[in-house]
Amino acid sequence: MKERFLGVDVSSHSYEQLKKNVIDDINHKKQSFIVAINPEKILKAQQDENLRNLLNKATYQIPDGVGVLVASRLKKGNIKERVTGIDMLLTLCEQAEEHGKSVFLYGAKPGIAEEAKEELVRKYPGLKIAGVLDGYEKDEQKVIQTINESQADILFVALGSPKQEYWIVDHMDELNVSIFQGVGGSFDVISG
Ligand code: UDP
Repeated sequence: MKERFLGVDVSSHSYEQLKKNVIDDINHKKQSFIVAINPEKILKAQQDENLRNLLNKATYQIPDGVGVLVASRLKKGNIKERVTGIDMLLTLCEQAEEHGKSVFLYGAKPGIAEEAKEELVRKYPGLKIAGVLDGYEKDEQKVIQTINESQADILFVALGSPKQEYWIVDHMDELNVSIFQGVGGSFDVISG
């Protein structure tokens, strides 16, 4: 379920399929990594083989940006819906609330993830937020330990791109989290 643009994979799953897959992955204790792909990232990946390999390592490359939809249409592909990083984050929170799964917010300046948490709980009152941590904590072991102790099912990483994607791939093995998503500046947007 992938289409390739200039060497970069993009998942052609519909929103509905993505929602179902993510909950199935959690229930099967499978680790999945979600990355949002836009034309800017595809262009950056042209000159950077490490970045290209990193993006292609993700389980789901969501089509964030109309450029990807246009390119898919030109190639008679199947990517019809835009799925932005922030929409995916909100959808995962909605799914987590519905299925009793928990989320962890890691990243952004001190205080921001806490404000985003309050906003998300206002929007999804039954959502379990297992923990929050700002993106400037220097002690990596503390970050890993805090996330593991929270027993979160879903981890949103807001360190900016591609730092967050490298961080996810480097630490996935040490974390007992099922779903990882790099979310860029989303906590700043949600916290207002
Ligand atoms: N950030 C962080 N730690 C860092 C560098 C950045 O937590 O070491 C946060 C920053 O505070 C901001 C986010 O990462 O909340 C980056 O947002 P931006 O919109 O620049 O990311 P993009 O969506 O462009 O990848």
